[in-house]
Amino acid sequence: MSDSSESTKKEEVEEVTPEPEEQSDDSSEEEAAGDTDMDFLRNLFSSTLGLGSADKVLDELTMGGVAQYINSGKCKNIICMVGAGISTSAGIPDFRSPGTGLYANLQKYNLPYPEAIFQIDYFKKHPEPFFTLAKELYPGQFKPTICHYFIKMLKDKGLLRRCYTQNIDTLERVAGLEGEDLIEAHGTFYTSHCVSFCCRKEYNLDWMKEKIFSDDIPKCDKCSSLVKPDIVFFGENLPVRFFTSMKSDFPNCDLLIIMGTSLQVQPFASLVSRYCISCFLVLEHTADPLFGLLGIGGGMDFDSDKAYRDVAHISTCDDGCLALADLLGWKVELEELVKKEHARIDSQGTKEKASDSKGAAAKTSAASVAPEPKKAE
Ligand SMILES: [Zn+2]
Repeated sequence: MSDSSESTKKEEVEEVTPEPEEQSDDSSEEEAAGDTDMDFLRNLFSSTLGLGSADKVLDELTMGGVAQYINSGKCKNIICMVGAGISTSAGIPDFRSPGTGLYANLQKYNLPYPEAIFQIDYFKKHPEPFFTLAKELYPGQFKPTICHYFIKMLKDKGLLRRCYTQNIDTLERVAGLEGEDLIEAHGTFYTSHCVSFCCRKEYNLDWMKEKIFSDDIPKCDKCSSLVKPDIVFFGENLPVRFFTSMKSDFPNCDLLIIMGTSLQVQPFASLVSRYCISCFLVLEHTADPLFGLLGIGGGMDFDSDKAYRDVAHISTCDDGCLALADLLGWKVELEELVKKEHARIDSQGTKEKASDSKGAAAKTSAASVAPEPKKAE
């Protein structure tokens, strides 16, 4: 089942990849910012003047309407866009937002400024703070959330076109999504590369894990340069696949589900306003629901008289997914999946626990722990 849907997915991607020029106005990545202004104005006009396409896909602008649409069989290509908010219930702090979460805990590293830990130039000179942090946040120490498994269910039911994630915790992969299902917009720990442009040797997760947990600064076997997980640092470009996939995915999007992110990422926001026919947003309590009205969230409109497409649900991501699953008749299945998968991860964990650094004085076993954390100088 998932095999066949996957091959269909690939074919479609090839067929529909649009030429940027075909989209009439200026849609190259560089011009995305200006483009958004245009989209913003277009949306503003169309919503205030009642112009533009108001083809209603949802019978009701409620979560019930979204569930009905999914169950109708007309909704075949769902795109999920997810951010840090979907992983907070797994215990992972949001460390991309300055002033919150992890940044506050970085003083001990004596960084010139907190963001330096993710700045590529700083990293090349001082890799230690990043790797110390990486050890603390290492993927595999956390379990995917209900929300992650909800996305996995969309895949299993052949409804997931793609999941765009801003997260680097790899929990989507732990939950069972595969490379083809995912666009890891800020990269991933899953693979690593030598930072030397002449070399770029690739390393896998196990190799990197061993280095991180033995407090070794990872160096390339071939050229002795630093090796860095493939997460996108400040000063680095987003993966090329991010842009190419967006251009083929969005024109085919039947429903966009946005969870745990405020959607202020370009060129994403402009693609949403241009192509999406139906959007469902799960907002955290802390998010400002006015985003949509102000057009900041890609020109979304939840509650004006002209609203026709966008549905917002204010709750945590997990609660939102459970509520939607309930309306879809999937709730029991979802809860069982979470229970089964968490039990599997726990049983795997107990095998590895002894060798993990979390238990500090853990007896040396397997490959991971060096007895004395030796600070490289
Ligand atoms: Zn190298």
